[in-house]
Amino acid sequence: MSDVLTARQRSLCMSRIRGGNTKPELTLRKALWACGLRYRLKSRLPGTPDIVLPSRKAIVFVDGCFWHACPTHLTLPRTNSQFWRDKLRKNVERDRRVDRELAILGWRVIRVWEHDIRRDVRRTAVRVCKRLDSGEKGREQRKSRAR
Ligand SMILES: [Zn+2]
Repeated sequence: MSDVLTARQRSLCMSRIRGGNTKPELTLRKALWACGLRYRLKSRLPGTPDIVLPSRKAIVFVDGCFWHACPTHLTLPRTNSQFWRDKLRKNVERDRRVDRELAILGWRVIRVWEHDIRRDVRRTAVRVCKRLDSGEKGREQRKSRAR
């Protein structure tokens, strides 16, 4: 894997934010906390989730635009593009597999794009909270139990 390409991709991805060195995960966590959601970190669940909400039996992933192949922002590096295409496709396949595994374990999975957090973290957090409250599903198919 080429560090040069990775660095270039990262700079492309980061170019929209200036002077911010906070990670999207971190800003989302803070915003969720402000909404009153209590989360847990460091989980051994499939996919090593970013944010685990045990009381809601829900998991939030923050998907980076490059590594998770965001349909809006992904630009493949011009060099080694086949390598990157394969790599990113595998990443996406792994995401789907993780979603299924978590669903089988009874977790609700909500995936949030990095670009949504960068654009408006507060709105993104509110959307996540609403989804949790409404019992709306993430990408998995299970019906959540009525409370
Ligand atoms: Zn994106």
